[in-house]
Amino acid sequence: MGRVFVAGSINMDVVATADRHPRVGETVAGRKVLYFPGGKGANQAVAASRLGAKTTLIGRLGKDSFGAELKTFLGAQGIDLGSVREANTHTGTAIITVAAADNTIVVIPGSNALVGADDVADVPLAKGDVAVCQFEIPLPTITAFFRRAREAGVVTVLNPAPAQKMSRELLALVDILVLNETELGFLAGVELTDSDEAAGIIDVARKLQAHADQSICVTLGRRGVLALAGREEVAVPGRAVKAVDTTGAGDCFVGALAAQLADGVPLRAALAFANAAASISVQRMGAGPSMPTAAEVAAVL
Ligand code: ADP
Repeated sequence: MGRVFVAGSINMDVVATADRHPRVGETVAGRKVLYFPGGKGANQAVAASRLGAKTTLIGRLGKDSFGAELKTFLGAQGIDLGSVREANTHTGTAIITVAAADNTIVVIPGSNALVGADDVADVPLAKGDVAVCQFEIPLPTITAFFRRAREAGVVTVLNPAPAQKMSRELLALVDILVLNETELGFLAGVELTDSDEAAGIIDVARKLQAHADQSICVTLGRRGVLALAGREEVAVPGRAVKAVDTTGAGDCFVGALAAQLADGVPLRAALAFANAAASISVQRMGAGPSMPTAAEVAAVL
């Protein structure tokens, strides 16, 4: 069984709830303040680890109380934190205000912006492992990590979120690209909407595909996932569930997919598993705490 190596962001999400948002210059009294471990890298590592994969997180935390709390939380999830280093700045933080079902978010990357090529240089990658990245750490670090992964015969999984333009070199280093419709549209330079038909989405994926062996997996929310796997098309329908909070659904999907691939499961079956895992996560509140165990996924498959 291979290991999952996630190089990515670790954040503390600070959520303030209020009856309404303050206007510029105004102060309003809030109701509650909540602290949630977050960051796409950390969320995906939690998902993979909960599902039983041996998981290593590579990232940076500040020398502050959020850094210490996040370390305790991630360690308790069974994640190897030997490659999480300290940075001489504050821990990545998202300040979220929720009022009247709308939110505003300010994300300060902090320590995540300092994850560099030196952090991924000595990671002990071996054939059969899976390397996972998202776009909340610097792109040159991801390129350096995937170059090393490729040399070691390790499968590379990229979740290009939040979307930003990437080099052809980086795209070509990716074995499995996992993204939602908005991100696919952005990277391919076309507008995709919720109502787009499968054939149209696959056409756009084909346009983006950097090499014949690359798989492009497009998550479609409650509609499931569509993938272009090399030349083959794979459709996994969504599971009818009562969603209460879709925060972290994409992260659960990516972590679960990586855990399955590290276990040697073929892509088609791994996608069905990840779709089931993510459909469980949307039925619970939060990102990290909503990630299911392998037994919970097995029970619905
Ligand atoms: P993101 O959160 O990155 O935009 P999606 O919304 O596409 O990602 O969700 C990722 C995956 O989570 C979907 O492919 C699906 O497996 C699952 N999922 C999301 N929303 C629902 C839902 N309402 N019902 C069932 N499954 C869902």
